[in-house]
Amino acid sequence: TAYNDAVAALNPRLNAYITTTPELALEQAQAADARIAAGDATALTGIPIAVKDLFCTEGVRTTAASKILEPFIPPYESTVSAKLKAAGAVTLGKANLDEFAMGSSNITSGYGPVENPWKRAADQDAKLVPGGSSGGSAAAVAARIALAATGTDTGGSIRQPAAFTGLAGIKPTYGRCSRFGIVAFASSLDQAGPMARNTEDCALLLNAMAGFDEKDSTSAQREVPDFTKALNRGVKGLRIGIPAEYRLEGTNPEILALWDKGIEWLKTQGAEIVEISLPHTKYGLAVYYIVAPAEASSNLARYDGVRFGKRVDGVDLIDMYERTRAAGFGPEVKRRIMIGTYVLSHGYYDAYYLKAQKVRNLILRDFTTAFETVDAILTPTAPSAAFGLGEKMDDPVTMYLNDVFTVPASLAGVPAMSVPAGLNAEGLPLGLQVIGKHFDEETVFAVSAAIE
Ligand code: GLN
Repeated sequence: TAYNDAVAALNPRLNAYITTTPELALEQAQAADARIAAGDATALTGIPIAVKDLFCTEGVRTTAASKILEPFIPPYESTVSAKLKAAGAVTLGKANLDEFAMGSSNITSGYGPVENPWKRAADQDAKLVPGGSSGGSAAAVAARIALAATGTDTGGSIRQPAAFTGLAGIKPTYGRCSRFGIVAFASSLDQAGPMARNTEDCALLLNAMAGFDEKDSTSAQREVPDFTKALNRGVKGLRIGIPAEYRLEGTNPEILALWDKGIEWLKTQGAEIVEISLPHTKYGLAVYYIVAPAEASSNLARYDGVRFGKRVDGVDLIDMYERTRAAGFGPEVKRRIMIGTYVLSHGYYDAYYLKAQKVRNLILRDFTTAFETVDAILTPTAPSAAFGLGEKMDDPVTMYLNDVFTVPASLAGVPAMSVPAGLNAEGLPLGLQVIGKHFDEETVFAVSAAIE
C-alpha cells in the first residue's frame, strides 16, 4: 500500500509509469504475505517492481510506448515477467520508455517524456532526462516508487538510463534471458535485464529472470549460476582491460576523470590494469544504426492495423495500412523504418547491410581477442551525465552519439553492466561500464561490486 500510494503521489510529475496496477499489486502482495507466512518465499517475494512496458503482461495493457498498440491487452505473459511473478515479485505497473525502445532520453514515448528525479545542484528547476529507452524504469527506481525494475537493452537502454539516475543495471549476454513476449525492436540485439539500486539487487533479479526457454530459439541452454555468489569475490589478480579507442577526442573531462578514478579503485583492490585495443570501436555506432533499424523495419511490419492495436480505416486495404501506420508511429520510429528499409533494399543491401554485418563480426572479434588477455573491460557508460529535457533534439545524430560506449558490447553480444560511480560537479550521478566475456556475468558482477 505504501508503494501504491507513493506511485500515485509521484507519477503525475515523473510520468515513470504508463499504466499503474494498484489492485493487482495489492492482490500479489497479499499472496506474497501468505507465501512468506507459509515459509515458501524467495528473495523476491513481496518485492515491488516496475516492468518496462515492452514486456507483454497477460491481461494488462502493453503499449511499447506507441500509440499504434494503444488498445492492446496481451493474452499471454513474457517469460521474464512470468518468472519474476513466479518468484513472488509484486508488479506496481508498466514503466514508460522510448517508443518501441528507440531512443536515449525517453522523449520519443507516445505517452510523454519521463522526468529524471535527479536535479542539478545549482538549478533545481531544470528538468533532466532519465536516459532511455528504459527511462521510466530508471526514474521509478531512482525516485523509490519501485524497488527494482526490468529493462531491455538493444544498444544501451539499460546501462545509459542506469548511469543517468545513479542505478546499477546489467545487460546480460545475448541469449541469457528469454526474449519471448518482449515486443521486438532488433531481434539480434535485444536483451532483458534488471535495473536496481545496487549490484546485489541486480544479481537477485537476474537469478530469477535468466534461463533457457524453449519459446525463444535464441535463448541459451546454459546453467544459471547464483549471481549473488560472485559479488564478494573481489578483483585481486583479475586483469582489467582499458581500451585505448574509448578515449575519444573531445570526451568530457569529467567522464575521463571518472574513468581514471575507477581504474585507481580497481588497482588499489589488487586488479592488474592492462591497456588493450578494440580497433573497430569507431565503426560501432555506424554499424548499430544500420543493423538495428534494418531489423526494426522488419519487426514493425506486423503493425498493419489488422492484427494488433490501432486501425484507421481507408478506402482499401493498402490505404488502411498507410493511414494506420502514419497515425500510429511517432517520428523516430518512422525514421528508423525508412533507414531500415533503405539499407535492406535491392541495390543498397550489399553496400550497407551486408557491409555492416561484416564489420559487426570484426567488432565481435575485437572483444574475443581482448578477452584472451583480460578478464573484464572497464569504460565509462555514457559520454555525459543526464542532460536537459529538450536538449540534443534538433539532430538525431547528436542523440545517437549517446550510445557510443554501449553499442559495441551489444553488437558483440557480451554482458555489460553500468555501476554507479559517484556524482559530478553538478551533483549528478555518473556510471562506469564493466564488460565481460560471453556468459561470464559473474566476473562482471564481481568487478562492478568492487567499484560500487
Ligand atoms: N539508444 C539506442 C537506440 O536508440 C539504444 C536503444 C535500446 O537499447 N533499446 O537505438
